[in-house]
Formats: sequence, C-alpha cells, structure tokens
Amino acid sequence: MAVTETGRVRDGAHGDHLREECGVFGIWGAPNAARLAYAGLYSLQHRGQESAGIVATDGGEYRLHRGIGLVSDVFAAGSLDRLHGHIAIGHNRYSTTGGSHIQNAQPLVVNFREGKLAIGHNGNLVNALELRREMEEQGSIFQTTSDTEVILHLIARSKATEIERMVAEALARCQGAYSLVLLAGDKLIGVRDPRGFRPLCLGRRGESHVLASETCALDIVGATFVREIEPGEMVILDKDGVRSIKILAPEPMRACVFELIYFSRPDSVVFGLSVDSVRRKLGRRLAEEYPAEADIVIAVPDSSNSAALGFSEQSAIPFELGLIRNHYVGRTFIAPEQISRDFGVNLKFNPVRRILDGKRVIVVDDSIVRGTTSRSLVAMLRDAGAVEIHFRVSSPPIGWSCYYGIDTPNRRELIASSHTVEQIRKYLNVDSLGYLSMEGLKACVERPEDHCYACFSGEYSVRFGAEMDKLAFERGAARPVEHA
Ligand code: SF4
Repeated sequence: MAVTETGRVRDGAHGDHLREECGVFGIWGAPNAARLAYAGLYSLQHRGQESAGIVATDGGEYRLHRGIGLVSDVFAAGSLDRLHGHIAIGHNRYSTTGGSHIQNAQPLVVNFREGKLAIGHNGNLVNALELRREMEEQGSIFQTTSDTEVILHLIARSKATEIERMVAEALARCQGAYSLVLLAGDKLIGVRDPRGFRPLCLGRRGESHVLASETCALDIVGATFVREIEPGEMVILDKDGVRSIKILAPEPMRACVFELIYFSRPDSVVFGLSVDSVRRKLGRRLAEEYPAEADIVIAVPDSSNSAALGFSEQSAIPFELGLIRNHYVGRTFIAPEQISRDFGVNLKFNPVRRILDGKRVIVVDDSIVRGTTSRSLVAMLRDAGAVEIHFRVSSPPIGWSCYYGIDTPNRRELIASSHTVEQIRKYLNVDSLGYLSMEGLKACVERPEDHCYACFSGEYSVRFGAEMDKLAFERGAARPVEHA
C-alpha cells in the first residue's frame, strides 16, 4: 500500500455550534476517481475540517493520502496525481470518539487475510468502547483511538468468506450511528445503520456510481441523484453494477433532525427533503410562534440564512445582510484560545453598521449551544447601532448531549440544560428571545416520527453501552440514562 500523510496539526477557532462529525464519498468506475473524490470532499468540507483523506485503487494496490486540515490543505499539487485508480473513497473528519491525530484521519486502510480493506465512517458507535475492550482482552492491537477501527477488527475476525457477509456480521454487533463507505478488493460498499441516523445517497455519473453523505457532493462531480441508501441496507458497486442487500433488520427510523436544521448544506436533499425548504419552513413557523415588531430580519450566516429568509417572508419584515461571515477562518497557526482572547467572534463575523444603525433587529440563528457566541454577537450588533434585538432560534432549546455522531459539549455546558428561556434572554442581553417549539419543528418535516430529537428531549433511541453511559454521566446526564 502506498501511503502519504501530511500531519501538521490544525488549530482553529471553533464556534459555539454543534459540529458534524464526518462526510464520506465514494466512486466506482471513473478513470480519475481520486480527483472526483477530491471535488466531493471539497463540497462536504462543512461536515469535517480536522482531517481529510482519499484512497484510490484499480483493485490491486491501494494508494492513500490523508492529513490533518482542510481538503485544500491536505491535497497539495501532486498528491492527487499519485492516487491512480478507477475506484476511490474519501473522508472528511471531525472527532468525538478518538482525538485529532493523524492516526485517526480516515480512510483507515488495513491488510487482512482477504486482502486490502479501507473504510470511511460518518457517525458514532455507542458500544465501541466495550467492543474494543473485549477484543483487546483477546489480544487485538489497535492503532487508533477511533471507533471506526473497531468495525475493521470485527470485519477481520468474521469467519465468513465473502466480504458482504463479513461486513454484515461485523455491523450486527455495532450499535449507534454509521454511514460507511468501504473498499474491499475492487468493490465499493456503502452501508447505513438500521435507524438511518446519518444520510448517505447513491448517484450516477455516466457509467460511474457514486456514494456521498449529501447530494451537494453529487452535484459537484456532475452525478445525478439516484436514491438514498435505506437504513440497514448495504449497496455493492462493482463491475456488475449496483447490488443491494438488506443486512440488518429494520428498526424505527431516527434520521438526525439536526442535519436539516444546521449540519447539511442548504443546496442538498437529505432524508428526501430539500434542506433549504425545510429551513425556510422553520423560519416561517418561528415567525408565527414568536412574532416581533422590528425593522429588519438578519441571519447569523451562513447556516441560518434560509430560516431567516423564511422568517422574513412570513413576517413581511425585510431581510438584510446585517452580519458578514469571514469564510477563511479555517486554518491558523495561532492557538484557538489565543484567537478567542484576542478577537472573539470578530474573527468570524463583522456587522454592517449602515444596515444596523438605529434599527430594531430580529436575529435568526439555528441553535444556541453554550450561548457564548450569541452573547458576543448581540454585543457586536448593539455596538453597531441596533436599538432593539429580538433573538429567534429555529430549533428548540438543546439540553442534551448527542451520542450519534455529533460533537456536543458536556451537558452542563449546554446553556438550556440549566437555564430557563428568560434566564437565557437576560444572559444574551436581548429584548426578546423565542425558540421554535418541538411541535413547530415536527410540523416542518414530512414524517416527524422518523427523526431523532434526543438533544432536545433527552429521549435516546439506541441504548448506550455501559462505557457510553459513564461518558453520558460525566457529561451531566442524570442516572440512569433514559432509553426509549
Ligand atoms: Fe441529531 Fe440531536 Fe439526535 Fe444527535 S441527538 S442524532 S444531533 S437529533
């Protein structure tokens, strides 16, 4: 296997938002597969900015390049040229399970008795620690701290002889969230967990087949959307085309509603829904639930733009660009704490004084996590001349941590876990504060019973392993953790 790695540690100023853990991409049957994977990862950059990697093959040698940083940092001129092959998978990563080290950058690639195996994972296994401990006690040696390596070990231990069955047996032991792309020999495999927490879609580009976390990655490579991978389904892409196997018994679907609220790109179609149109509905509903007398509606860009437009449409209050986001914060060699001390939110946002001065302003944001960024933004808007600030949030209060692939702080750090809306209003120093109701949120998605809402409700649909229970407890959950 040819491996090249770039291992500079990226320091960045992380905003006060929940963070998606990963984006995955796979393509079979394109002469320049790695280049297309690069484009796919580029469009999925919002799903993970700590590391990126691509492995490409023609079915023989696997050629891997991965590194710490943004896609554009990791793949310097020339690195893609070495990744020959008509099959490729790629991965962007944040981390919740496992740290931000080069060893944890994906795709992970191993040699085992059946040959080569590569994997990219979006999600989080809630029983990874128990599985890992069990295998370590039996002599397994792990090279990373990532839960994804647990899946590789389980596949390698399977007594089955066909890769499809090996993967199915391995995943039967895994609990939690996973949308996977795997390379085995000359096969590209995609799998989605039985509850479908994370998205994964199938596309077609001429004679090539594509797998991607979001449809925006199909668009960038010129592929057309075919369908979503079903929860519990495995698709196998090879010289015979596309095969589908239901490998895991169906469970009640729990598609992450936060993909629609914040994580996914607005130009994507996720869980069969246009992300932009869901966000506009959220904004319209929010305007109905919490109207305000004001002169302008502004968004906290970019993720709240669609919801703010919906609020403006419903309320007939003009939408204005009152905050400008700096898109190039990504990479910096200054420590994040130092950046926060020196610049705060100014590094990321700048107010447009001409628009804000003397105005009564409705600010629409998609969520409040700790509240620190929102508070600083409000101070920034007041400094820029806003005379009233009415803060509107296009989702309910986040009071619980996520264990299904989203990086959430300790529950005690979630401001809504310990403060009333009125207390949060005072903390933010706004004239009024309104969160979308749970009923309002559910009214904006087509099949509300098919979604996970655990970070709002604390009703976790997949039982944690004992180790994850411990982590949940450390993050502030009351014992026993509630399981639906
Ligand atoms: Fe998504 Fe929240 Fe459920 Fe996590 S807990 S999967 S962020 S809805």
